[in-house]
Amino acid sequence: MNIPSRAYVFCQSVFDRFITQNGTLTITFEEFLFLEIDRQKSMLSPEHKVDILNGSLKRHLSVFIQLFAKTLGINSGLIDGFWGPQTDYAFWTLIHYDENGCLPPLWRDYEIPDINPNHWPDEKENEMIAFYGQPGDESKHVYIQLPYELCLAWDISTKLKRLLCHQKVEDSLLRVLTAVRLHYGDNEIKTLRLDRFGGCYNYRRKRGGSSWSTHAWAIALDFDPDRNQLQWGRDRAHFAKPEYDFWWSCWEKEGWVSLGRKSNYDWMHLQAAR
Ligand SMILES: [Zn+2]
Repeated sequence: MNIPSRAYVFCQSVFDRFITQNGTLTITFEEFLFLEIDRQKSMLSPEHKVDILNGSLKRHLSVFIQLFAKTLGINSGLIDGFWGPQTDYAFWTLIHYDENGCLPPLWRDYEIPDINPNHWPDEKENEMIAFYGQPGDESKHVYIQLPYELCLAWDISTKLKRLLCHQKVEDSLLRVLTAVRLHYGDNEIKTLRLDRFGGCYNYRRKRGGSSWSTHAWAIALDFDPDRNQLQWGRDRAHFAKPEYDFWWSCWEKEGWVSLGRKSNYDWMHLQAAR
């Protein structure tokens, strides 16, 4: 993802305010960013600290935004200086704060139950590894027989009767999909495209980021990616519509997290991590 030009404008305005407050300091914009990052370097991702400190202006800008958002209590993810969807979401929340003096009102008119009956770990690498093992460890994968047939979102003539996932999510996944099938039935499932499968296991890092994607543990699933694209918010994503409320309740009862429901991006994505 590209850094929006608004991000440069924002950082420049923070710099201008700093200069105004501190009189006639001879410091450049680039030096200012670097000093701010250096001052807060204990918050940087340890794995990326050296690269960040030696990094480009672009990287510094991303880190600066991630840090700024974090100090306001906005979840900007790992402080790694990569501009991915989570940083983008944090940035626009930050802009709202800057313009209005408060965080955006909750766009949600629904409550996400704060329950986690399967004790899914927090999405932190050490907790994920402690619970699920190493990313990409295929010895922990199992096939489940699907309660209803899925098809590949990018090739709907390819039908799936079974699905590969991590063994620890197997039972929960079956309970969810069985409940979905009972509630909606096969026709409605097709109409709502709850059968358009966008993938589970994928040994990769996050898009635009450096940490492991939850897909690398085979504990995340994507559905109907065409109509729920990564950067789309609830104004465009189909999964934000009320006819999907039951679908979400099935997952949330089991402690699964929808990034769309929680943070209003990547509505296609569900994960057994908090
Ligand atoms: Zn995903």
